[in-house]
Amino acid sequence: MAGTAVTPGSALDELRGRIRGEVIAEGDPAYPDACRIWNGMIERRPALVVRCTGAADVCSTVRFAREAGVPVSVRSGGHNVAGTSLSDGGVVVDLTGMRNVFVDRDRRMVRAAGGARLGDVDHETQAFALAASFGVVSKTGIAGLTLNGGIGFLTRRLGLSCDNLVGADLVTADGTLVHADLDRNADLLWALRGGGGSFGVATSLEYRLHDVGPEVFMAITFYPLEAGKEGLLAWRDIMRDAPNELMSVALYWSAPPEEPFPPEWHGKPVFILAGAWSGPLAEAEEAVRPLRELAEPVADLSGPMPFEMAQQLFDAEYPDGRRYYWKSVYLSDVDDVLPEICDRATAGRPSPLTSIDVWALGGAMRDEPEGGSAFAQRQAPFLFGIEANWEGADGDEANLAWARELYAEAKPLSPTGGTYLNFPGFAEEGEELLRASYGDKYERLKEVKAKYDRENVFRGSFSIPVG
Ligand SMILES: Cc1cc2nc3c(=O)[nH]c(=O)nc-3n(C[C@H](O)[C@H](O)[C@H](O)COP(=O)(O)OP(=O)(O)OC[C@H]3O[C@@H](n4cnc5c(N)ncnc54)[C@H](O)[C@@H]3O)c2cc1C
Repeated sequence: MAGTAVTPGSALDELRGRIRGEVIAEGDPAYPDACRIWNGMIERRPALVVRCTGAADVCSTVRFAREAGVPVSVRSGGHNVAGTSLSDGGVVVDLTGMRNVFVDRDRRMVRAAGGARLGDVDHETQAFALAASFGVVSKTGIAGLTLNGGIGFLTRRLGLSCDNLVGADLVTADGTLVHADLDRNADLLWALRGGGGSFGVATSLEYRLHDVGPEVFMAITFYPLEAGKEGLLAWRDIMRDAPNELMSVALYWSAPPEEPFPPEWHGKPVFILAGAWSGPLAEAEEAVRPLRELAEPVADLSGPMPFEMAQQLFDAEYPDGRRYYWKSVYLSDVDDVLPEICDRATAGRPSPLTSIDVWALGGAMRDEPEGGSAFAQRQAPFLFGIEANWEGADGDEANLAWARELYAEAKPLSPTGGTYLNFPGFAEEGEELLRASYGDKYERLKEVKAKYDRENVFRGSFSIPVG
């Protein structure tokens, strides 16, 4: 059997003999599909993609890559916008076949394999009206999401995904399996809570569960774009004083071309207030009322629904293979200039699929979990997100330019220059962005990196450098 550019055939044969999963190299029929991820803009050519079936396969694969001297990247949900799960010439530890989820109802914990999507976990936990705190699109991988924070409909009430991470099994750079929790390798648990994927391969992750649902109340009110001019500031005031059970995001997007939207609104730019109330249902209507009464709506789709359904509401807007480029900036406030910026940028979007999102943060996200975390941006009350989404490579130039221009305009509004490390489109800003985003946690992250991965086996965009 032939070798690859990075390793002789005998070593590859040995790997194939040792593991239960599939080893896919360039030239294999499965290779093109194995290199395809959610973002259609990402085209990379790894030396190998290894579809692991368990921790044993992961250990063998990491040892193999380390001996061959090539970088390892990890693919879980494959939804990282910058496509960090693939590297040119590297070995991909592909966990997409490892999605088992086990709920421990008595301990109110859930343990999920490293390739699980958040929809996998929601499905199992909601059978018992329990939930962990994850993001808002069900196909996103829990691992990638958690390792850089994890913001979703429960964040203000329950904290970030990483705050609820109580333990993980991790294959480190020397190919050994270790456990990280508050008692064992506590420095590693600290780093996994927001410090990214630089320390090893998480083969399973354990989270604290909370009472959620089975129904929550979703506010989804579409207003004319003009309503955003005063509406964004009114929303800011509502969310400043809102109870933690209310999470909300203000969106500049397009009205869908379907019922119940009046035909004259189809595809037109709109200002949307979306919110999730996860407190007692009897209090929901009153809690979300201010979000629904800003102005005369174009349409109001608000109502109670199963939490599992709420978690899938936006899935269809993010299909596989479309082209995506995102950026974000933490804000210390929503001031008067922001509605103007959003209004102008929305009108100038090259693609109607593109949105600008302002997330209200705060609440339980401000609290460090027991044992601390590497996540550094707890105090920012708002996150400004730029989501350029479009079809076709001929739109690349215009859409990238639009997003970069808006990012350049928004960045001075950030007190730290930090970004939410789950959203950046490409690693254009290098280590400076990492420093700004991790703040005073950065030096300790480098120490943990040096302890667990001195040879920098897990290197790629946004990874913590050694030393
Ligand atoms: C449609 C969509 C919606 C999103 N919504 C939200 C949201 O609501 N809230 C939010 O916070 N974020 C959201 N995100 C951002 C998302 O959290 C990141 O893109 C995240 O990286 C996706 O994780 P993944 O496992 O799918 O990614 P992958 O591309 O599989 O992995 C990304 C990186 O994470 C690390 N990694 C992944 N798995 C492991 C593992 N098992 N062990 C070690 N390292 C690992 C690696 O460094 C890897 O390169 C969204 C993204 C998309 C595409």
